[in-house]
Amino acid sequence: MKMFKCGSCKTPYKIDETKIQSTQLTVNCSKCGSKNVLRFGPLLIAQSKDSLQQVSLKMGANTIGRKTDNSKCDLMLNDEYVSKQHATVYIENLDNKLYISFVDNGSLNGTFTKTKSKLKKDLKYPFLQDEYFIVGLTKLTLKLN
Ligand SMILES: [Zn+2]
Repeated sequence: MKMFKCGSCKTPYKIDETKIQSTQLTVNCSKCGSKNVLRFGPLLIAQSKDSLQQVSLKMGANTIGRKTDNSKCDLMLNDEYVSKQHATVYIENLDNKLYISFVDNGSLNGTFTKTKSKLKKDLKYPFLQDEYFIVGLTKLTLKLN
């Protein structure tokens, strides 16, 4: 169970996280009627020698690429070994559970697992809690919260 408090009247609520099927949940407080938006977004942590970034993942595709002037990726990395469209993290709802996977989009330098094996292009690899993938000089770790 997860606890949260209504943002307006502070009434505490319990949420059964095994029933959460999305990265976002709206709860209407039964006491004061205000709408609380809760985020359960798994976090993607990008760690390199001199930077640490954290993004909250959304349902569907979350794109990862090198930071450029016109980059539109969800996670932009300041890493010269990362391609402009390097990889994608997918969050899907399968059988009422969140399924998270990592896909290399045919990047120039590839994506590697923590055991240093190279991902095959366009294939979905399961992305589990505290696992990581390596793109360029950056380590991408999944945190569920
Ligand atoms: Zn309330």
